[in-house]
Amino acid sequence: MAQDIEITRQQDSWYCKPATAIRVSTWTEAPRGQTTRYTHPIVGNDQLAHERGLPVTVTTGAEDGPTLLLIAGEHGNEYENIVALQETLQSLDPAALKGRVVGVHCCSLDSYLNRTRVAKIDGQNLARCYPGKADGTLTERVAYTLQNDFLGQSGSHKPVCLVPLHTYGPGMLGATLSGYNIYPDDPELTEAQRSASLATGLPLVWGHEFDASHAAAAPLGDDASGRTALYAAFLAGVPAIYWETTWGMRGEEEYKRGLLRLMVHFDMLAGTNEAIVAREQIESVGHGAGNMASHNQAPCEGLWRPTVQIWDRVKMGDLLGEIRNLYGEPLAQIRAMRAGVVIALSRMQYIVQGAQCGIVV
Ligand SMILES: [Zn+2]
Repeated sequence: MAQDIEITRQQDSWYCKPATAIRVSTWTEAPRGQTTRYTHPIVGNDQLAHERGLPVTVTTGAEDGPTLLLIAGEHGNEYENIVALQETLQSLDPAALKGRVVGVHCCSLDSYLNRTRVAKIDGQNLARCYPGKADGTLTERVAYTLQNDFLGQSGSHKPVCLVPLHTYGPGMLGATLSGYNIYPDDPELTEAQRSASLATGLPLVWGHEFDASHAAAAPLGDDASGRTALYAAFLAGVPAIYWETTWGMRGEEEYKRGLLRLMVHFDMLAGTNEAIVAREQIESVGHGAGNMASHNQAPCEGLWRPTVQIWDRVKMGDLLGEIRNLYGEPLAQIRAMRAGVVIALSRMQYIVQGAQCGIVV
């Protein structure tokens, strides 16, 4: 265990050493050479824990090898990721696989059933709640379950990599990307994440610096907390990369190809990956560089009219678009806060104050 991870564990008052008693799961015991589907219980023994259990598929290869952990639906109103995971797992032949692929089809079932980004029952964003709480809200209990029962495993059950699969959501357009945290004190973990991202063949590979001690001190659930699934993986000493894609632009096909390439990268499937060079490979320094919600926020409400496109290169101060009233009169101009590549943009729509207009990295 790298020293920086041990220090962060001690700093984070919510971190618990995974309990041995719950480490034996249906997925860890799944028979070799088979695909197993089951509902993984959420910690707690109430009705809600049963109704919102995690749908899991584990494909267990005939031969030993690494454990790859794939999770979708941390935000229940994102679908390309769920579909890509379903179809990848349906197509996997256990006889051809070394190790196991564990897929959690939908982590925040409550938000999925309500077609919302965050859970309706507690208003919480699962992707800001790790490592969760065993006796907390439903969302905090889901986070705890993922931290303990999946990431917190040891030996051959410890994941070689976690991939939280996301989309930009209904309001944003963006480049399909594999992203990762850069941990300045942990070059080995950072490099494992960088090389896994490059192996995916996704068009954008984006690394951003992350200060784990900042997350460790932040409240659970806070939007700027950095308590993401990547942070959960860091606490577990597991490399992690996350993916984003635009709604309705066939991102599920990019994801399916990327997931198979990742299995080749980890020697879980035979063969070699055809070389694909990312269209852009970007590394951003400074803590918080990866928090997308903090980029180019709207100073007022109005009709957002973007004037750039995804992949455009801009200079600091270049116009990204304007916010108008209904007569077409400009209320505000949104200018790039830094030079770089436009990787995401709000769709043309009525936006509220504080909404993100675009992301330039
Ligand atoms: Zn998401």
